[in-house]
Amino acid sequence: MPRLPEAGDEAGKQEEHSIKPGKQTQPPCPCGGPRAYDQCCAPYHAGAAAPTAEALMRSRYCAYTMGLEAYLLATWHASTRPLPDLSADKDTRWLGLEIRRHESAGPDRAIVEFIARYKIGGRAHRLHEVSRFVLEEGRWYYMDGDFPEKKDRV
Ligand SMILES: [Zn+2]
Repeated sequence: MPRLPEAGDEAGKQEEHSIKPGKQTQPPCPCGGPRAYDQCCAPYHAGAAAPTAEALMRSRYCAYTMGLEAYLLATWHASTRPLPDLSADKDTRWLGLEIRRHESAGPDRAIVEFIARYKIGGRAHRLHEVSRFVLEEGRWYYMDGDFPEKKDRV
């Protein structure tokens, strides 16, 4: 069935084939960044090196929302990488990411504190983590993290 023209198509005809990135046409990236996925996390998911630990953190959160297990494993430092089975997270619906802090902890170390919100089976949860990242041969990797709130409770 041919696609019916929508109202407003006439006005936009001249720019129909231009590939200008625009906030109007594409939703913001799932990581919460201001740019669309194509200009935000997509290049990292395609293999480009993330320039900062925060960019890597965002692209990893984004990969969680999209179920990109291969990317999550590829950006996990080999020393702490889990076995390739993240299927327990399948029912998780990711709601948003808030970066609290991003600081250098040495020439090849960085810390990113974030809060990720998600839902499992209708119940809302929040993950507050202080993650450690390590830079190796120009690429950032997720190493491990602490959970400040859980620690407070103990
Ligand atoms: Zn993004």
